[in-house]
Amino acid sequence: MTVIPHVIAGKHTEGHGTHRTEVFNPATGQVTHHVAIGNSQDLDAAIAAASDAFPAWAETPPLTRARILFRARDLIEARMNDLAALITAEHGKVLSDAKGEVTRGLEVVEYATAAPELLKGEYTEQVSRGVDAYTMRQPLGIVAGITPFNFPVMVPLWMAPMAIATGNCFILKPSERDPSAAVMLADIFHEAGLPKGVFQVVQGDKDMVNAILGHPAIQAVSFVGSTPIARHVYATGTAAGKRVQALGGAKNHAIVMPDCDLDKTVDALIGAAYGSAGERCMAISVAVAVGPVADALVTKLADHVRSLKIGTGTDNSNEMGPLVTGQHLSRVRGLVDSGVEQGATLVVDGRDHVVSGYEKGFFIGGSLFDNVTERMRIYQEEIFGPVLCVMRAPDFDTALNIINDSPYGNGTAIFTRDGDTARTFTHNVKAGMIGVNVPIPVPMAFHSFGGWKDSLFGDHHMHGPEGVRFFTRMKAITTRWPAGIRSGAEFIMPTHG
Ligand code: NAD
Repeated sequence: MTVIPHVIAGKHTEGHGTHRTEVFNPATGQVTHHVAIGNSQDLDAAIAAASDAFPAWAETPPLTRARILFRARDLIEARMNDLAALITAEHGKVLSDAKGEVTRGLEVVEYATAAPELLKGEYTEQVSRGVDAYTMRQPLGIVAGITPFNFPVMVPLWMAPMAIATGNCFILKPSERDPSAAVMLADIFHEAGLPKGVFQVVQGDKDMVNAILGHPAIQAVSFVGSTPIARHVYATGTAAGKRVQALGGAKNHAIVMPDCDLDKTVDALIGAAYGSAGERCMAISVAVAVGPVADALVTKLADHVRSLKIGTGTDNSNEMGPLVTGQHLSRVRGLVDSGVEQGATLVVDGRDHVVSGYEKGFFIGGSLFDNVTERMRIYQEEIFGPVLCVMRAPDFDTALNIINDSPYGNGTAIFTRDGDTARTFTHNVKAGMIGVNVPIPVPMAFHSFGGWKDSLFGDHHMHGPEGVRFFTRMKAITTRWPAGIRSGAEFIMPTHG
């Protein structure tokens, strides 16, 4: 069985680690590959290659870096089908959804091709008589990205193009559950002309993450994954003196107001809750129905959930594929069990859904709960599966308070026709990304992505202008030439004039 390798110094290698873990095709439940689990020697090898590459890469003009990114952009577009097929084979999501993922990642590459513009500093002539000031942004050095299973192309592309365009050497540690796409991405960047050592992949599990966090040569860590691990990565990385952005899990609520367009709202919620089998950090997992809309909302949602087309990701007519692993399937089933035990109304039960011919695949049907309350596990925990919880709130303020009391604050949405309510919501809700009649308000590449509260540890959001700031250090330079020097030694705090 083939072993999915690291990409170190531009070459595929199984490295020094002898441990391998299984990679599944979630639709069949079969092991298709093993992945090399790297050790500290493998990380050291990547660091050595990055250290060799960094001085020249940092000195490479941003326009030259951008030209490589332009070629990488074209190659990603040309290999869109191959990348999507790899995602579907290891993650399970439907191919059309996988292509959407690649496209959203590609947009960050496109944004990063503006490196010469993005790295422009500011210049102020005459901050004082004969004195000028300007700023510049310089790369950090060797930086690392640690990514989750649910977007094996898009999330690495939130990081890599930004890190590389700004002159850093980037080491990616992808999820061990779907690690192949990372290898293809690194190969594409090399084919585009990226010098070896600038974009590397080290495969591994938590030991590799901890090796990265402890390695003194790594200046910054960009992490995306679940909240407990994000918290750990942030605490450990910053304690070791690194710059860290750690994006965590989510429990995204949508408020459904009585004045909304109910049919369109139901369509939006179905896509947002069950697309990619609910394995999206921006999935809507809680619908808060305000006042009299609840009964009609639940009835219409239930009709859709019962008729979801579930099957292999390779068949584009399916709306939902399998979950990523058998272990995750058991966890999602267990959480649905807990909802029943804790008194929620299970309106649609997807637990025993079987896809004919794929009985060993990690499939589950869509589930819909009504009368969910804050004390239930299905409310408190991120299920990360195709389960939508409906809560009932008597009025808008109660619904808003539910969201603001949640420890998570990634995305949220409101469905209403009333501009005043929408404005009050966007102004007062405590979350990082907000949709008004938009269920999954993922910011475009030229904005930045990130949540609040336990959904993000650190100061910088991902990609866009925040990505440039995260991967660079600023210098402020003040200059004066002999003609501008008006007196001898000055002993007072300089002031302008
Ligand atoms: P995860 O936290 O299990 O894994 C993320 C990464 O951390 C992986 O590379 C994994 O190898 C590593 N890891 C796992 N356990 C570790 C440990 N104990 N110590 C150190 N490293 C460890 O997440 P996942 O299951 O791969 O992905 C799903 C999670 O990611 C969900 O919680 C989802 O909400 C979140 N996510 C968040 C965003 C966001 O932008 N906020 C985006 C995508 C996914």
